[in-house]
Amino acid sequence: MSNDRTAAVIGGGMAGMAAAYRLQQAGFEPTVFETRDRVGGRIWTVRKGDFLMDLGTAVYLGTYRDAIAMIHEVGLSDQFVEREATGAMLRDGKVHHFDYTTPLRTALGTKAISWPSKVKALKLAALTIRSRRGLGYDTYDALAELDTETVRRYCRRELNEELLQYCGRPLVSGTWVADDAETSLALMLWTIRNMLVPNVYNLTSGVIGLPNELARRVKVRYQHTVTNVSDDGATVEVSFDADASEQSERFDACVIATTAEPALEIFPQMDDNHRDLYSTARYRRLGSICLGLSKRPTDPATYVLGALCEDPDTIAVIADHHKAPGRAPEGKGLLTVLLTHEYLNRTDHLSDEEVIAYAIDRASLYHGDISGDVEETMVVRWPESVPALGVGRFRQIAAFKHRLDYSARVQFASDLDRIPGLNGALVSGQEAAGRIAGAVTTGASAAAATAP
Ligand SMILES: Cc1cc2nc3c(=O)[nH]c(=O)nc-3n(C[C@H](O)[C@H](O)[C@H](O)COP(=O)(O)OP(=O)(O)OC[C@H]3O[C@@H](n4cnc5c(N)ncnc54)[C@H](O)[C@@H]3O)c2cc1C
Repeated sequence: MSNDRTAAVIGGGMAGMAAAYRLQQAGFEPTVFETRDRVGGRIWTVRKGDFLMDLGTAVYLGTYRDAIAMIHEVGLSDQFVEREATGAMLRDGKVHHFDYTTPLRTALGTKAISWPSKVKALKLAALTIRSRRGLGYDTYDALAELDTETVRRYCRRELNEELLQYCGRPLVSGTWVADDAETSLALMLWTIRNMLVPNVYNLTSGVIGLPNELARRVKVRYQHTVTNVSDDGATVEVSFDADASEQSERFDACVIATTAEPALEIFPQMDDNHRDLYSTARYRRLGSICLGLSKRPTDPATYVLGALCEDPDTIAVIADHHKAPGRAPEGKGLLTVLLTHEYLNRTDHLSDEEVIAYAIDRASLYHGDISGDVEETMVVRWPESVPALGVGRFRQIAAFKHRLDYSARVQFASDLDRIPGLNGALVSGQEAAGRIAGAVTTGASAAAATAP
C-alpha cells in the first residue's frame, strides 16, 4: 500500500515508536524525530563485556497485554522468554522470599509480617477484591473514585505501621519509585492487582528489542531535535535542529511523544487540557546501576523490593541473570541496583565510581559480599523515570480523558495520562495514532464533501 499522508512523530520512546508503527498501518508515511542516537527513550539495553544490561525499563509483565501482543505481531516470538519470578524483601536484616505462584500460602507462611498484621491485611485484601473491576488499564473513572487519600494515610488509618513499612511503602516505591507520603491509594491497589505476578517476560535482545524492531519498520531521523511544532489548520510544520542547522518540514499530522517539558516547549499552541496535565507533571528520579559479576550469586530472588525503613536508599535489587537467558554467561551474574529519588537528590556531587561503590554495598546486603566479583559496571542517573501519581492525579487524568480533542491533527502520547510504564506508553502511542487516523480521515472526507 502506498502511504500518501504524512505524519511526524516527535520522540522515539515506546509511545512514539508504537504511534509511528500504527500510523504506518493506518496508511500514513510516518517520520520519527529523535534527539538521541538511539530509539527507546527510557528503555535502553547495552552490551558491556559479557553482559546484556537493561539500564532503563527492566521487564515486561504478564499484564502488559498490548506490548506482548505487539512483540508477537512484529515477529519477535522466537526472542520472547517467560521466567517464573521469586520476590523478596529485607526484614530485620534477613531476606524473606515470596513465591507469587501460591500467593495465599506465601502470605500466610511468610515471617516478614507478624500474625496480627496478617489479620489486619485482610482489610486490604478485601478492598482490593471489592475494587478489582476498577483496577484495569482503561478504568480511569473507577481509579478516580479510589483516589481519595495517600498510601501512608490509608495504611496508618486502616492497617498499622508494620504494614505501612513492609507492605504499602515497598509496594509503591519498589514498583513506581513513589513516595508513600504523597502517592495515591489507587496506585497501591492497582499494583496489588496487576503487578504481584508469578512470571516476568523479556526478550533475549533485551527490553529494547521491541522499539528496535519498530525502528526497522518506520523512518527514524536520529539526532534530530525538534524545536517547534506549529499547526496552521491544514498542515503541521515541524522545525528541528539537525546537522548544525535549523530546518523545517510540513506534515499532514503530528504526534508529540516526549516527556512533559519538551512537549510544553515545542508546541506553544498546546490546548488547555494538555497544558493542565503536562505543566503539573512531576517525575521521580531513579539511579540504575548494573553490576556484571564473575560469580553468580546463589539467592533465587529475581526482584528484591527494598524496605526503606531498613535500607533507605534502595528501591530494588534485580537479579538479571534470573530474568532472561543470555544476560550473563553461565556461572556469571548480573545485578541491577535501583537507588531512590532522594538518594540522587543528595548525591549529585558524587562521581560515578562513588555511586557504584555504594550500589555494590547495597547489593551485598541481599546477595552476600560481591565486592570482589565485579567485572563490569554501568550507571545511569535518570532525571525522569516514572511520573508521580499523588492524590488527585487519577481524578485529573480521568477528567483529562473526558476532555480529549479527537479531531486535533496534533495529538500527544506518553506515560503521563495513564498508569505509567512501558505498556502504558505503548497504548498511549497506539491511541494517539488511532485519533490521528480518525481525525485526518474525517477531515479529508469533510473537505471532499464540501468541495465544489
Ligand atoms: C530505570 C528505569 C526503570 C524502569 N522500569 C520499568 C519497568 O520495569 N517496567 C515498566 O513498564 N516501566 C519501567 N520504567 C518506565 C518506562 O520506561 C516509561 O514509562 C516508558 O518507557 C515511557 O515511554 P515514553 O515513550 O512515554 O517516554 P520516553 O521513553 O521518555 O521517550 C521520549 C523520547 O522523546 C525524545 N525527545 C525528547 N525531546 C525531544 C525533542 N525535542 N525532539 C526529538 N526527540 C525528543 C527522548 O529522547 C525520548 O527518546 C522504567 C524507567 C526507568 C528510567
